[in-house]
Amino acid sequence: MSSSFHKELELMARNLGADLFGAADLSRAHDFMCNQGGEYLRKFPRAISIGIRLMDAVVDELPRHEEKPVIFAYRALYNSVNSRLDHIGLMLSRRIQREGYMAYPIPASLVIDYDKLIGTVSNKLAASLAGLGWIGKSCLLVTPEFGPRARYATVLTDAPLDVGAPMAVRCGSCRECVDICPVKAFTGATFNPNEPREVRFNAHACNNYMKDRERRIGEQLCGLCVYVCPYGRKSKMKK
Ligand code: SF4
Ligand code: SF4
Repeated sequence: MSSSFHKELELMARNLGADLFGAADLSRAHDFMCNQGGEYLRKFPRAISIGIRLMDAVVDELPRHEEKPVIFAYRALYNSVNSRLDHIGLMLSRRIQREGYMAYPIPASLVIDYDKLIGTVSNKLAASLAGLGWIGKSCLLVTPEFGPRARYATVLTDAPLDVGAPMAVRCGSCRECVDICPVKAFTGATFNPNEPREVRFNAHACNNYMKDRERRIGEQLCGLCVYVCPYGRKSKMKK
């Protein structure tokens, strides 16, 4: 049952436009998730993670992110990818519910705390537990295929699915995201699931920078850490 249902959901997601699909065992992350989003999340033992790749031609221009045409094009792409991910999450959820299981879609972009820049459930955490990639020094989900140039949504569920295994961190000695950040928001520490995000990331610094951009050019998004990762910039890809 689980395998054929898993395959059916993956096919549905890919036909709707997903580039990445995986299922995660959430048991090891329940304490962290409940602390962030609420105790009710414990009733979901698994999650589906879906990802859509961003367009390289748009991301490659982000070093000029002070220019309105560049950053507004990134915003438009960001919004349309988020919207499609939310649609795929909804369609998967409807199918799962019809099968008699719980489905709780987590949208691609839902911030519940703007100081900490966190949502109900971390889509990146679900994707990493599903084995789609690892959490980089940038705190972004980095995949071998697309680097951090993808966005994610999640469906929490109790449906029987074929869960993946988390991938080892492959950042190595790279520090490109650490060095390019204009406000030095990353410490350069390698991801460790037992440490709080503050060990790696000063969300306050990033948030203040975004607010300043909103005032100056009318757009918060920055994207330099998405742009620079060698795993996304194919020409410099490290294996
Ligand atoms: S989005 Fe920009 S300011 Fe924020 S962490 Fe990434 S590079 Fe730094
Ligand atoms: S830029 Fe380098 S250190 Fe940062 S996430 Fe990518 S591989 Fe890891």
